[in-house]
Amino acid sequence: MSVDITPYISKLSEIFNASDALYLKSQNSYLTTAGEAFSCTGCLDNCCTTVFYHYTLIEYFYLAEGLSQIMDPEMAETIAERSQAYFMEIVRNPFKTDSLRIMCPLNFDGKCVVYQNRPLICRVHGVPSSLSQPGKAVQRWDGCKKFVELHGGKDFPVVIDRTPFYAQIAALEGQLRKEMVFFQKYRKTIAEMVIDFIKDEPFLSNTPAQPTCPGACQKKGI
Ligand code: SF4
Repeated sequence: MSVDITPYISKLSEIFNASDALYLKSQNSYLTTAGEAFSCTGCLDNCCTTVFYHYTLIEYFYLAEGLSQIMDPEMAETIAERSQAYFMEIVRNPFKTDSLRIMCPLNFDGKCVVYQNRPLICRVHGVPSSLSQPGKAVQRWDGCKKFVELHGGKDFPVVIDRTPFYAQIAALEGQLRKEMVFFQKYRKTIAEMVIDFIKDEPFLSNTPAQPTCPGACQKKGI
């Protein structure tokens, strides 16, 4: 049975719009001495080198929409090669992913090539935030290195509460999985998601095989 994911994508887009609006509000609450809002401009400590894991199929499908819009075959081939290299680095260092620094395969010249379709963690990282989970102490993040250098040790007028966004995504994911009759665990890096996209197997395997770029990439438009 095929599942129409369009309504799920649309709902996720609304959730991301709300998180982006809050992020913007946060940026505008932290001004430099020159009166400029907090931004990533000029930052050499790119947070896209942090190894993030993503836990939802719906974010995979959203990312896949962005990947399918990449039409430059050279860029597509580079993304495939980088994703495989990234994945192998993780395989070689399975217990050091917290300290590993590897550039995300989707970052070109400091910019995300799927910016509109990036997952939630890419949208809320950088400024002060918190997360409440049942039975756990509230988690708090002071912001990225640049943020702490500029604004650390002061009061935080705006703290992004990640809780409602994760809760809404979890509810959406639950509905989607029920409709797809899919209940396996999902935990993947962006590189693995890209490799799955190339293979056209979004969630069946937790150990992606070698991508067969350029043939498969051309087939997928990446
Ligand atoms: S998906 Fe985009 S924003 Fe997220 S880590 Fe990769 S390049 Fe950076």
